[in-house]
Amino acid sequence: GTSMRIDRYLTEMRVATRRQTRQLIKAGHVRLNQQLVTQARQSVDPNVDIVTVGGERVIYQPFVYYLMNKPVGVVTATTDVNTTTVMNLINAADFRDDLFPVGRLDKDTTGALLITNDGELGHRLTSPKHHVLKQYRATITGTLSTDDVAKVAEGITLKDGTRLKPATLTVGEQDLVLNQTTIRLTLAEGKYHQVKRMVGSLGQRVIALDREAFGPLTIGSGGLLPGHYRTLTEIELAATQ
Ligand code: URA
Repeated sequence: GTSMRIDRYLTEMRVATRRQTRQLIKAGHVRLNQQLVTQARQSVDPNVDIVTVGGERVIYQPFVYYLMNKPVGVVTATTDVNTTTVMNLINAADFRDDLFPVGRLDKDTTGALLITNDGELGHRLTSPKHHVLKQYRATITGTLSTDDVAKVAEGITLKDGTRLKPATLTVGEQDLVLNQTTIRLTLAEGKYHQVKRMVGSLGQRVIALDREAFGPLTIGSGGLLPGHYRTLTEIELAATQ
């Protein structure tokens, strides 16, 4: 089978830092198949060995992190009877039934979506306390004014009374033939249909919506085609911590 050092096992499962793990071992808190572990380099097989810390079992469950470029037409859910979900786009070899999408994009929205089985990270990135920035590029009807930019920067109130945090709006050049404009919106929160409702409250309508960045995670121009995903790099993962 596959074996690994016990200090890495415990560090990966976030029991403690590498240094703290060594201290736990020294202090006699770590056991492998009931036997006291004395060496940080002790080898364990996660598939068969039983590891305990202070008498509590630590099950090995590796975390995986995928960045998907969500395509149009699929829903951000784990299961849906009628519609393809983002989970249906995960290859059998990568699929685990503990995976979930972090946050939500509308069925007709494309772009950066994190899919992981790391519940703690997922919770942190979607918690309103943490103000993770989301950058959207939208094609809208008509255009928006510098007045609208100022309003958004102050924090607009939606038609239903929802007060929004200050956000950054940049307005690109208007396509006078199609009567459309590309805008960028950077939000520190993620209310239901927020971009569409913001644009709506400014008197225009979203035609197409793409999330370019979710916190430090960007699809980039590197060519992650819609419907495709890749594992986060070490640098990206560190940036989410
Ligand atoms: N705002 C929206 O209106 N839709 C999304 O999918 C994301 C943000």
